[in-house]
Amino acid sequence: MKVVRSPRTMQRMARSWKEDRYRVGLVPTMGALHPGHLALIAKARRLCDRLVVSLYVNPTQFGPNEDWERYPRSFWEDHQLCRQHHVDVLFAPKTLYFPDSSTWVIEESVSVDRCGRFRPGHFRGVATVLVKLFWIVLPDIAVFGEKDYQQLELVQRIVRDLFIPVRIFSVPVIRDHDGVAWSSRNRYLSPSERKIAAQFASILKQGSSKKNAELWVKEELGKLEGLQVEYVEKVQGRLCAAVWVGTTRLIDNVPCP
Ligand code: AMP
Repeated sequence: MKVVRSPRTMQRMARSWKEDRYRVGLVPTMGALHPGHLALIAKARRLCDRLVVSLYVNPTQFGPNEDWERYPRSFWEDHQLCRQHHVDVLFAPKTLYFPDSSTWVIEESVSVDRCGRFRPGHFRGVATVLVKLFWIVLPDIAVFGEKDYQQLELVQRIVRDLFIPVRIFSVPVIRDHDGVAWSSRNRYLSPSERKIAAQFASILKQGSSKKNAELWVKEELGKLEGLQVEYVEKVQGRLCAAVWVGTTRLIDNVPCP
């Protein structure tokens, strides 16, 4: 497995792969890899000849008071996991921005509700970095998790609207034994907070079969001490929620008929 730091080197490599008619796959991540990421990598591995995992904690998708600085970074653990999972290139750029970068990708429909309401600028950062990654890695396929459901909808919309020649695949939410969706941010949780996170997952799951799912989940979550609801919204057959457990923001979603 190669580690590539420079966007230009990555792009050159991708172009030579394309000349050789290899099918290129991309799994974008912010690192601190866990079984959720590994499921994406396993799926992508089956779909391509050359697999790139990008590892970049994109500063522009974090708000000024968010956790960019303390976001978990574990390069060598990630490196080992990627090698074990037969990744060809770990693309870990220092930055994808110039000091005077002034070009942004703004999507104005999918990005508006749910997380968009509470994290202004977040999806602008996500959309911009994904388009950069697509131009640098030139993937034929890219794999995303349903864990970040709104992000998945966003990337599908961008690829369609901008005619980007990449096929998007998705993987269902991967959960730990206690039902909590794997997330790099789970590392912030204390043991007692972890129990609350498990209750959050369980209530969301139970709520998905209720008649008035949004309201029921909001009410049940409201009874939990140590948890604050940001939103519970049903969108296109998914029940999506964001909560704060202490100082950690968690998102999750379940299918909801
Ligand atoms: P992140 O590193 O958090 O930006 O996530 C990178 C990719 O992994 C995104 O497409 C996420 O949706 C996906 N992902 C993260 N956690 C999970 C999970 N528990 N199950 C499925 N996919 C996940």
